[in-house]
Amino acid sequence: MKITIDLMACKAYANCLVEAPDVFDFSEETGKAIVLEDGVPNASIEDVRRAIDACPTHAISVVE
Ligand code: SF4
Repeated sequence: MKITIDLMACKAYANCLVEAPDVFDFSEETGKAIVLEDGVPNASIEDVRRAIDACPTHAISVVE
């Protein structure tokens, strides 16, 4: 599973962190969401799908 975040689209609403806290976090540097690479192998696709649905700016993409 490859998860990417469009940083131009991300407006830091944090919905993704709420839905999939093992996969997403915030970058202190950019103030935008990041993908925790070590969380991806164990990530629940359901959690990731909820995060995608919860993102108001459609910034999250996933390739399974
Ligand atoms: S829910 Fe979308 S806009 Fe909000 S932090 Fe996550 S990726 Fe960014």
